[in-house]
Amino acid sequence: MEKCIICKKEQDKGIHLYTSFICTDCEQEMVQTETDDPKYKYFVEQMRVIKETKYVT
Ligand SMILES: [Zn+2]
Repeated sequence: MEKCIICKKEQDKGIHLYTSFICTDCEQEMVQTETDDPKYKYFVEQMRVIKETKYVT
C-alpha cells in the first residue's frame, strides 16, 4: 500500500510518477478532467510539487 499524493489515501493500485504515487482512481479522474475545471488546477499543482521535489533531489 502506498499513499496517493492526490487523494492522500493508502491505495494498492496506481502509477509511480517520479518518486510519488498516484492511485488508479485519481489517474482516471485526472485524464477525464477538463482543463477549465478547477479540479484540473489542483492536479497540476500536485504534479508541480512532484517535479520540484524531484529537482531538489
Ligand atoms: Zn488517489
